[in-house]
Amino acid sequence: MAIMSTKKKRNTCAVLEVRQLTESTAIVRFERQGLEFEPGQYIRVGVEGDSEIRDYSVYSDARADYLEVLVRRVEDGLVSKQLCELEPGEHVSVGGPYGHFKLTETLRGKPLLFVATGTGISPYHSFVESFPELDYRLVHGTAKLDETYESSYYGDRYFHCVSREEGGDYKGRVTEYLQALDVPADTEAFLCGNCDMIYEAFDLLQEKGLPTAQIHTEVYF
Ligand SMILES: Cc1cc2nc3c(=O)[nH]c(=O)nc-3n(C[C@H](O)[C@H](O)[C@H](O)COP(=O)(O)OP(=O)(O)OC[C@H]3O[C@@H](n4cnc5c(N)ncnc54)[C@H](O)[C@@H]3O)c2cc1C
Repeated sequence: MAIMSTKKKRNTCAVLEVRQLTESTAIVRFERQGLEFEPGQYIRVGVEGDSEIRDYSVYSDARADYLEVLVRRVEDGLVSKQLCELEPGEHVSVGGPYGHFKLTETLRGKPLLFVATGTGISPYHSFVESFPELDYRLVHGTAKLDETYESSYYGDRYFHCVSREEGGDYKGRVTEYLQALDVPADTEAFLCGNCDMIYEAFDLLQEKGLPTAQIHTEVYF
């Protein structure tokens, strides 16, 4: 009997553009090469020829003919910095998609609460671009004021919590803001970013009466 491999095929894709958003964050766009994904899923990306690969949520529209990822540069990291320094024409190796952080058709008609820290905003960008009719509110927590990552795209549905500088819509952490937020009982909540925020926000939302099945999570680190 033949043994089937569960390993997904990896593609070599040319980098098309690198858009620098802040000193430490960039959007890397590369060829899609027919890779199918559902908004919210992640792919495994590395610099072509390098054995190190890491997970990145897809930032781009599911209908676009390219893929984009939003990458925060970790200075002593082995992959993120290298991805941010790529030039058009260089290549990345890409595998996937993976993950269950998705918006099923039923969920798309519900009131949606998207909560992110840092680059955890990425899957929501893909949701909103791919499904323009969503009824959502996006609460984004970052340390600095300039880390809004193309937030004008979301108009007044975007709410910025800034923890270490003055400005934004709220001074403090996302979880502090959530404590006072009114969350209707039929809300589907999505949490994406660092695990401390996710554990804390999960508990808070449960205390507000949301059942576990209505809280969806994606932990980055
Ligand atoms: C499912 C999933 C999806 C992810 N999607 C994204 C994404 O869309 N964009 C993205 O930038 N990262 C994302 N990450 C994190 C990413 O996979 C890498 O861990 C990150 O880019 C650092 O890799 P590195 O090799 O440069 O550093 P490493 O040596 O692997 O990591 C060093 C340390 O950097 C910190 N770190 C990791 N990611 C971040 C981050 N995003 N912001 C701040 N500090 C971080 C952690 O403390 C980590 O231990 C995702 C992770 C998972 C599990």
